[in-house]
Amino acid sequence: MKVLLLGGTAEARALAAALAGDGVRVVTSLAGRVARPRLPVGEVRVGGFGGVDGLARHLGEDRVDAVVDATHPFAAQISGHAAAACAEAGVPLLRLARPGWSGLAGSEAWHWVGGHDEAALVTARLGARPFLTVGRQALGAFVGPLAGCAALVRVVDEPEVAVPEAWTVVLSRGPYRLDDEAATLRAHRADALVTKDSGGDHTRPKLDAARSLGVPVVVVRRPPEPPDGATVSEVGDAVDWVAAR
Ligand code: NAP
Repeated sequence: MKVLLLGGTAEARALAAALAGDGVRVVTSLAGRVARPRLPVGEVRVGGFGGVDGLARHLGEDRVDAVVDATHPFAAQISGHAAAACAEAGVPLLRLARPGWSGLAGSEAWHWVGGHDEAALVTARLGARPFLTVGRQALGAFVGPLAGCAALVRVVDEPEVAVPEAWTVVLSRGPYRLDDEAATLRAHRADALVTKDSGGDHTRPKLDAARSLGVPVVVVRRPPEPPDGATVSEVGDAVDWVAAR
């Protein structure tokens, strides 16, 4: 049995390890966005497929028996492509998506916004020393509205956009600890924390730290998941789904 695992997340790496342990042949696919990605066990391919048709072709040519889409909740395009390509090629598809943070204590007080442009405008109203943790690809939306702010920006790789002089860019990759996140917010004297609703535990401590320090939080809502299709939120359930095939 051969599984194509659309990856780029901690869950995808955990699933690759679990399936390899069960003797399933897994090929993890990465987009190639990060300079030095954390690699899963097993085979890895890197780069886009060339849209829905390219992915459907790949499924046939590579004799893929099943696809697990374990990409990040904000990687909406590849999830849509996977749904369409699997339907076209007649290959079973499972979506593995970690739960969001909307159930966390204090989340009802967060500023929930529909996108990064709105997040930038809301953040500009909250103060002048935001801590931005939205990822490199979204930074462009914040450059204009927060140009005069002393923003602290945490990204894995160097931003592709030119950032304002007043910003401080820190290159780092999680997981993070609560004490360290609280120290970061305090040291910067942050008056807002800006994040996407990525979910999971690796980057969650910043939210707990913001809550304990009374720092306002701006959260970008998730894009919609593709309609229909089987979805699980736990790696173990994805292992069971593959085993059932
Ligand atoms: P996206 O906007 O949904 O996808 C854009 C294009 O990138 C897709 O159409 C596809 O190209 C290619 N692509 C995306 N994921 C791929 C994968 N796993 N394997 C092969 N090609 C892939 O994706 P994105 O938001 O830029 O995210 C890219 C990757 O980074 C994802 O795999 C995701 O799991 C990971 N990631 C994303 C975020 C985030 O915040 N967006 C955070 C952490 C990790 P073609 O159309 O040519 O096939």
